[in-house]
Amino acid sequence: MEFCPDCGAMLLPKNGKLECGCGYKKDLSSGNEYEVSRKEQLEKSSDETVKMLGEDVEVGPTVNETCPECGHDKATYKLIQTRSADEAPTRIFKCSKCKHTWRAYD
Ligand SMILES: [Zn+2]
Ligand SMILES: [Zn+2]
Repeated sequence: MEFCPDCGAMLLPKNGKLECGCGYKKDLSSGNEYEVSRKEQLEKSSDETVKMLGEDVEVGPTVNETCPECGHDKATYKLIQTRSADEAPTRIFKCSKCKHTWRAYD
């Protein structure tokens, strides 16, 4: 038995929810809210990953770029779209020899 935290009346089960005459509703499928916030957290953390440019560039197409660190002439690159859509995607290179990463400025 559950009671309304707003007015203290007994809550009545209805459509998978507990409802009170005062308009208070309690969702019985608890865990949903948790799932949603968890998903938001995951999306947030992937944004953080994008911000940490160059830290961990996955393997992409190999191009002839000279590594500023070791002089190796092969690197993989990846396009990273920044937050604002009107900006061109940033190219991130990763040396296939020493794993140094750097951004390309056009
Ligand atoms: Zn109530
Ligand atoms: Zn290198």
